[in-house]
Amino acid sequence: MQGMAEGVRETVQGVTVPKDYQFLNPEDSFAFTCPEECWGTCCSATTIRVDPWDVLRLARGTGVETGEILKFCQLYQGQKTPLPVVSLVRRGRCPFLLLDGSCAVYPFRPRVCRYFPVGEMIVLNEQGAVERRYFLIRSRRCKGFGGHTVYTVEEWLHQEGLAAARAMAEKFSRFLRDAGEKLQWSSWVTEEDVRELLHLLYDLDAVRKRYRLPDGLTDRELYAWCLDRAWHYLLERAPAAVSPVGGEKTV
Ligand code: SF4
Ligand code: SF4
Repeated sequence: MQGMAEGVRETVQGVTVPKDYQFLNPEDSFAFTCPEECWGTCCSATTIRVDPWDVLRLARGTGVETGEILKFCQLYQGQKTPLPVVSLVRRGRCPFLLLDGSCAVYPFRPRVCRYFPVGEMIVLNEQGAVERRYFLIRSRRCKGFGGHTVYTVEEWLHQEGLAAARAMAEKFSRFLRDAGEKLQWSSWVTEEDVRELLHLLYDLDAVRKRYRLPDGLTDRELYAWCLDRAWHYLLERAPAAVSPVGGEKTV
């Protein structure tokens, strides 16, 4: 692979990438094929972090409302934001993993599942521009490396549905970044605020009903509306000392 820095330990926006991860450029290539006998290994004994768009797509794909998908999720406190991390996990494994190792929601699977074994970090620089960092997740249990099919990172990320998921993840990253930097939410949000934000950001079908939003709203429009509503909720609750004048939109 070209331009790959091996054995780098780097901290990006508070996330430390383990030493054995390898950073990649979009044009770098890797050989990878999933052998059938390994199917499901990466989905068991792991937690799959989901963002609001993942929850919405899983709901649309399975024909249920977002609140039903959230019943398959656990929340735990991460280090970066006061908002808990939302992960698909039940009894230590992904609830959508079938007995034969296949995925019950494969066409609608979350972004991190589509990426694997490629990892991506979205870094927003001081000018607000997006920088993306890629790396390979070399799990010891994964038998796919060294397979006969070679991909560049760009090719791997050119999967159906991933472009929209990446764009929506970027909006969510901007929301989190602005809440942290402009509103310093970590220092003042209450448990009640966190509950309300989880509702506004993740349970989009319930929000649609609560605010009687029109049925014709597309998923993208609903997602944008909810992010905007969550931002304005924060603006209303922020102490005067940190509330930016005019409350400019975050997304
Ligand atoms: S959603 Fe599907 S691909 Fe993702 S961890 Fe679960 S079973 Fe595996
Ligand atoms: S080869 Fe790797 S990606 Fe494929 S099923 Fe096994 S652990 Fe998952």
